[in-house]
Amino acid sequence: MTEQRYVAAIDQGTTSTRCMIFDHAGTVVSVDQKEHRQIFPQAGWVEHDAVEIWENVRTVTAGALAKADLTPTDIASVGITNQRETALVWDRKTGEPVYNAIVWQDTRTDRIVTKLGGGDATKYTATTGLPLATYFSGPKVMWILDNVDGAREKAEAGDLCFGTMDTWVLWNMTGGTDGGLHYTDPTNASRTLLMDLETLSWDEGICADMGIPMSMLPEIKSSSEVYGNVRERGSLRGVPIAGILGDQQAATFGQACLSPGEAKNTYGTGNFVLLNTGTDKVMSKNGLLTTVCYKIGDQPTVYALEGSIAVTGSLVQWLRDNLGMIATAADIEKDAKSVDDNGGAYFVPAFSGLFAPHWRSDARGAIVGLTRFVNKGHLARAVLEATAYQTREVIEAMNADSGVDLEVLKVDGGMVVNELLMQFQSDILGVDVVRPVVAETTALGAAYAAGLAVGFWAGEDEIRENWAEDKTWTPSMDDAERAKLYAGWKKAVTRTLDWVD
Ligand code: ADP
Repeated sequence: MTEQRYVAAIDQGTTSTRCMIFDHAGTVVSVDQKEHRQIFPQAGWVEHDAVEIWENVRTVTAGALAKADLTPTDIASVGITNQRETALVWDRKTGEPVYNAIVWQDTRTDRIVTKLGGGDATKYTATTGLPLATYFSGPKVMWILDNVDGAREKAEAGDLCFGTMDTWVLWNMTGGTDGGLHYTDPTNASRTLLMDLETLSWDEGICADMGIPMSMLPEIKSSSEVYGNVRERGSLRGVPIAGILGDQQAATFGQACLSPGEAKNTYGTGNFVLLNTGTDKVMSKNGLLTTVCYKIGDQPTVYALEGSIAVTGSLVQWLRDNLGMIATAADIEKDAKSVDDNGGAYFVPAFSGLFAPHWRSDARGAIVGLTRFVNKGHLARAVLEATAYQTREVIEAMNADSGVDLEVLKVDGGMVVNELLMQFQSDILGVDVVRPVVAETTALGAAYAAGLAVGFWAGEDEIRENWAEDKTWTPSMDDAERAKLYAGWKKAVTRTLDWVD
């Protein structure tokens, strides 16, 4: 047992970067957070400035320590969790990115993935657990090498590094151009379309298909071990970096879904349902991903089935920022409560095509079922309901794949403060929905991974004991109503397909 009383987590998310400090009970001691710019150069493109993100990491780590009046010597270890799939290529000699980070939501690799598959989107599924889709990192790297002047030559000369945001943060924290560690973990690597799920190593054949030199790729370590100590002159200098988990796997860990059959749903920019399948690698027949859930040190790899939904909370942001229909995200609940139902309106937010279980990059968003009767309240409801219907689609796929019906859904993320949504979610699924006391499960999961590696937490049982229920919603909708609403949604989805050639 280490002497320090705290563990830190850096959560490099899609819209913001947070640093959170936790105590042994898993209670949040301090938080600092900073948003970064969302760069939309053209329709379907989404980028982040990786230098801005790194500066934000430094700012929030200093901020979180200062708020709790702590110094690095109080921190036993630090974990990193991150938006997954977002791809960055940088020059290992200068430390400069050759292009902005291409964000997971970006659809510019549409043609690349179609061409790679040659008509078969499942070409790499047996190896990687993933369908060929714009979502994943490998084709984004391919795009950078194909489109940035001089990038391919530099890559072939061994001068460029690829990394997801965990790798970028780790490399910078451990010295950058002065010997920074170029590592990732299997949860992040399992989202590149380049990793063999069985061996947890890069697949040379797929890398060759995408023209990605192996020298660019980070070394795949476990999700929980001491990788090195913080070397940059920032606020955590000297602290061991001891955990890396992609954000959704981190939330699964933070929710203590540590046994096969346990599942969580995170409601953030998008929604991500992960079902722990233990050491079994379950290949989906219903449009889910097979992914690494976590790998603790040299213990066996734990796998998950995942239902990824691209647009849920970001639809609320879109209503606020693009339409100005609400002033704050919380206003959506007030508007939705002003009516009893959706008035017949459905909103299918296929802004990045449709992810699980459809995987249709040719889909685009639609609002259907409109009549002169529909008002702002109905649309607000349709927006919230879209999150719940999309969740039901992936839970149905999960039940079919696993052969077991989910009985209770653990939830977390920014949208779970929305009571109307949580009740509707329970109603439309017909199962209990449970929110834990610590809703910051993503950062907590990364802290757990980092803390386990240095003995701050003795084992998984301590993590299970820390989990506590805050609130449960139980279904109160009758079966006929549930069936009618869901049938409406299914019909609405069909209206969004085949939109893009
Ligand atoms: P991420 O980690 O993906 O950046 P968060 O978990 O912080 O996201 O959740 C933020 C999302 O939650 C935003 O997309 C926002 O629109 C949504 N959100 C926040 N508050 C509410 C609310 N009261 N009702 C519905 N959605 C909300």
